[in-house]
Amino acid sequence: MTKQVAIGIDVGGTKIAGAIVDTKGQILSSLRIETPQGTANDVVAALKQTINNLFEVVPETSEVIGIGLAVAGTVNWKEGTVVQSPNLPFSNFKLREIIDSELGLTTFMDNDANLAALAEKYYGVAQSAQDFVGLTLGTGIGSGIFCNGCLYRGATGAAAELGHMVIEATGPQDSCGSYGCLEIMASGRTLVHLAKEKVETNRKSLVLELAQGDPKNITGPLITKAAHQGDKLALDVFNEIGFWLGIGINNIVNIFNPELVVIGGGMAEAGELILAPARKAVSKRALHPNKDIARIVQSDLGNKAGVIGAAALVFDELFV
Ligand SMILES: [Zn+2]
Repeated sequence: MTKQVAIGIDVGGTKIAGAIVDTKGQILSSLRIETPQGTANDVVAALKQTINNLFEVVPETSEVIGIGLAVAGTVNWKEGTVVQSPNLPFSNFKLREIIDSELGLTTFMDNDANLAALAEKYYGVAQSAQDFVGLTLGTGIGSGIFCNGCLYRGATGAAAELGHMVIEATGPQDSCGSYGCLEIMASGRTLVHLAKEKVETNRKSLVLELAQGDPKNITGPLITKAAHQGDKLALDVFNEIGFWLGIGINNIVNIFNPELVVIGGGMAEAGELILAPARKAVSKRALHPNKDIARIVQSDLGNKAGVIGAAALVFDELFV
């Protein structure tokens, strides 16, 4: 019997990841390339190449029923347009139509953080949840909102920019132009920035030792490693980032009353180092019963959430 599969593509500013995914969310084959740092046409060419390479390894017993694109940026999913993207050369770009017409296969597209939440709903920790919020903690902070079992997209698909929720009105300026957004207070980029700042006055930290004495070598995983070994500076940095994340989640649970807040993305791999201070801030501040209902949990999909979510979008659109 033929097995139905989808091709899921995660289009990010630094990498393009692609996978053949079956209806159970299992990855049959995957690949990853660097995103060309050129024009929109260069990125489109790389996307087509990625999709064609995946087609070549589709098992004989499988049939590809569609292509899903998870794009880092503001996406109008109805029109298939990338409205804008901070790290990709797309502006009001009709990406879906190009992929659809040139490859001759039904194509769907949405924002990568929305699709990470869809992946949680289909195959991750949120399968039984009707109301939940997914936060993707990476260089920036993306998010997806599920209300009453459906992805909440807003009037034009640009909803759920929770990373740009202002949590410290007089805080530092964010890349979006506003001040004190959740993203500038609690993202992976800020984690690294904070550690670099702190080692200037505390040269004895294990963070600096692991960075071979040069603050330029400090990365998120390196800070995590130092924190796991009990380094005070690294723990302080996580406590500070986790606190601000908790302030953001406090607003989220008060507004949406979700059953779950799912934390994914690269920085989520720090686990309790960041979740514990976040939960503490929420328990101190959020309203009853919201704070008692909302469980703050780590995603178990890792960096596969984008490709799995992109494939889930195909199944969601074609089957439901
Ligand atoms: Zn912002």
